[in-house]
Amino acid sequence: MNDENLLHARRVLDDAVHDLCSVQTLTVNGDRFTAPCLYVQLCEAVVAPPNRPDGPGGRASENLWLAAADLRHEIDSSVTAWIGRRGHTMSLLQDLTVAKWRPQDSAMLMTWAAQVAVWADKISELLDGSGHAEVKAPCPECGIRYVWQHRDGEDVKTPALHINTKRGCTCLSCKSHWPPSHFEHLALVLGCNPLEGTA
Ligand SMILES: [Zn+2]
Repeated sequence: MNDENLLHARRVLDDAVHDLCSVQTLTVNGDRFTAPCLYVQLCEAVVAPPNRPDGPGGRASENLWLAAADLRHEIDSSVTAWIGRRGHTMSLLQDLTVAKWRPQDSAMLMTWAAQVAVWADKISELLDGSGHAEVKAPCPECGIRYVWQHRDGEDVKTPALHINTKRGCTCLSCKSHWPPSHFEHLALVLGCNPLEGTA
């Protein structure tokens, strides 16, 4: 193990922690839209009590709540064990990325990075479409601003443009899709054609 391995391992861990702990943003019309980071979204899912256990979708939301609580416990206890002290998981993870490591620690850092990446994927999967933000601008393709979605037995008014920082932006109305690499272009299009008043 040499310094180059260590540098590489640090970078991989840094990226993995960034994916788990960074606020997700998109700028449209000069407005910044943000979604909480994946870890915070997970914590929010744990804090929110499973609603209506006997209502429609109740069992599913109870299972989601249990899975989220489980995953959060796994993340918190693993990170505490890695660093050897207690604290807020997100700041402990940041501490891991800036701590002094020796070249012989590289393999350990790579293992941690892989684990952090698995957690980020698990959270995304669990919360389905998480790492997401909703943009209250109309879709540049179809001009639709809101759609109605059926959730837990209720019709919910939802912004048509649904942004996932990993998967891209999708219009829930016309199904147009822009990959994350097109966010800048999309922001520009939304900025140039505000389509105010379109519903
Ligand atoms: Zn559309």
